[in-house]
Amino acid sequence: MQIIAQCPQCGNNWLLDSTAADKRIKCPRCNKLFKVPKLSDIPKAVKIIRQAKGTIYVDESGKTYG
Ligand SMILES: [Zn+2]
Repeated sequence: MQIIAQCPQCGNNWLLDSTAADKRIKCPRCNKLFKVPKLSDIPKAVKIIRQAKGTIYVDESGKTYG
C-alpha cells in the first residue's frame, strides 16, 4: 500500500510507503517537516485502498483528496 502525502507548505505530492504513516517526514523540496497521518485516522481512504489496491492522497490533517 502506498500513500501520497501533500506537503502543507509547497503543495508538492510525495509518494510514500504506508510505513511512513504516523511519522514525520521532511519535504525533499522545501525541507518542511510534516506529519503523515495514521492510517487509522483515514479509515475512509484505507477502505478505498483495500477495494482499489491503489494509492491514497492525504494531507497532514488526515483529509483525503484527489
Ligand atoms: Zn514542501
